[in-house]
Amino acid sequence: MDTTIDFQALPTPSYVVDETLLRRNLEILKSVKDQTGCKILLAQKAFSMYHFYPLVAEYLDGTTASSVHEAQLGHEEFGKETHVFAPAFKKEEMEALLPIVDHIVFNSPNQVKLYAEMVKNSDRPIEIGLRVNPELSTQDHALYDPASPFSRLGTTAVNFDESQVELLDGLHFHTLCEQGSDALEATLVAFEEKFGKYLHGMKWVNFGGGHHITKEGYDIAKLVKIVNYIKEKYAVQVYLEPGEAIALNAGFLVASVLETTYNQMNLAILDTSATCHMPDVLEMPYRPFIIGSGEADEKVHTYRLGGQTCLAGDVIGDYSFDEPLKAGDRLIFTDMAIYSMVKNTTFNGIQLPAIAAHTVKDGTKVIKTFGYEDFKSRL
Ligand SMILES: *Cc1c(COP(=O)(O)O)cnc(C)c1O
Repeated sequence: MDTTIDFQALPTPSYVVDETLLRRNLEILKSVKDQTGCKILLAQKAFSMYHFYPLVAEYLDGTTASSVHEAQLGHEEFGKETHVFAPAFKKEEMEALLPIVDHIVFNSPNQVKLYAEMVKNSDRPIEIGLRVNPELSTQDHALYDPASPFSRLGTTAVNFDESQVELLDGLHFHTLCEQGSDALEATLVAFEEKFGKYLHGMKWVNFGGGHHITKEGYDIAKLVKIVNYIKEKYAVQVYLEPGEAIALNAGFLVASVLETTYNQMNLAILDTSATCHMPDVLEMPYRPFIIGSGEADEKVHTYRLGGQTCLAGDVIGDYSFDEPLKAGDRLIFTDMAIYSMVKNTTFNGIQLPAIAAHTVKDGTKVIKTFGYEDFKSRL
C-alpha cells in the first residue's frame, strides 16, 4: 500500500484516511467529467467523513443523500449541489429538505403526486426526478441489487405514470454495485427501452452509483463513450453519484492484537470488531486485506481473527503471518474508508474507532475520538 501514514502514531482502533490516495481517485473522476461534461456527486452513504468534504468539493459537483440528515450534512459541509432520494418521504421531512436541496428524486408516482406541488411552490428552484427501475439485474447479490424481483426501489415500467412527465425534470436509476461499465451498458439498454421515450425533453438523467470507476481495470473509455452517447441522443445533463469509487482504497483501520489463544487452531482477539467497526465484512460478506498477511496457511502462522464482542460470529477471517502474533502487535486493514465509519455501531458498548486524517500539510492527525457519551447518548 502506497501511503506515508504513520500507523504507529495512531491510537487503536482508528480509521485513517489518506489525502493523497483520496486525490488519486478524485483525479480519475475529474477526468471522466472533463471527457463527458457529466456531473459527479458524492453518495454520502458510503463516505461521510466531512473533514475531507472541502477537498472532495475541489473535484466534484455536490452530494447526494438518502435522508434529511445526510442532506443537511452535504448542505452544511460540502455545499455545491445537494440531491436527495428516499423510497418515501414524510411531510415534515419534505419541509426540512426544501430549504437545503437542489434535486429531489421520488421513488413512485404517488410520491410525485403527494409532493410535486409543494416542491414547485417552494421559494427556491428545486428539480424533481423520478427513480425508475429498469428491472435488469447485472449481479447475483440480492442484498445489494435494487433491480431484483419484488424490489421496492424505483418505479417499474408498468407503474410509470405518463401524465406526470411534465412534472419531471429528470430520471434516475440505481441498480449497480461495485460494477464495471459493461454492466452500465447493459442496464442502459433496458433503461432506454423502457424509459428512453420519456427522457426527450427532460433536463437530466442520473445513472446512480455502483460504478467502480477508480478500481484498477475499470473500463473508463467505455464509460465516457456511454455517457456521451446518452448526453447527445437525449440532450440531457448526465449525473453519476458513486460512493465507493470516491474513497476506494483511500483509508485504513488500525487495530491491536489483545490476546492470542487456541481452540483447534490459533485465534487472536483484536480491539476491533467485524460487527461493530466493519459490518460489511459480515453483511456483504467479504474478506478485508491486512498489510503483510497472507491467505490461511499461505504463511507460517495462521490465525482466526475475532473481535471483543460476545457475538460468536464476530470473526474477520483467517489470515497467515510470517511471525506469530502477540499482544500489542498492530494490524492494518486496508480499504476501510468506505461503508465503515458510516455503518459502525456501539453494540456491546464497544469503543468506536477514532477518526484520523493523513494530509500532506499536517501529516497523520487524529481528528475525532469517541467515548462513553457517544454510546450513552443513543440509548
Ligand atoms: C448506494 C447508492 C449510491 C452509491 O453507491 P456506491 O455503490 O457506493 O457507488 C448512489 N445512489 C444511490 C441511490 C444509492 O442507493
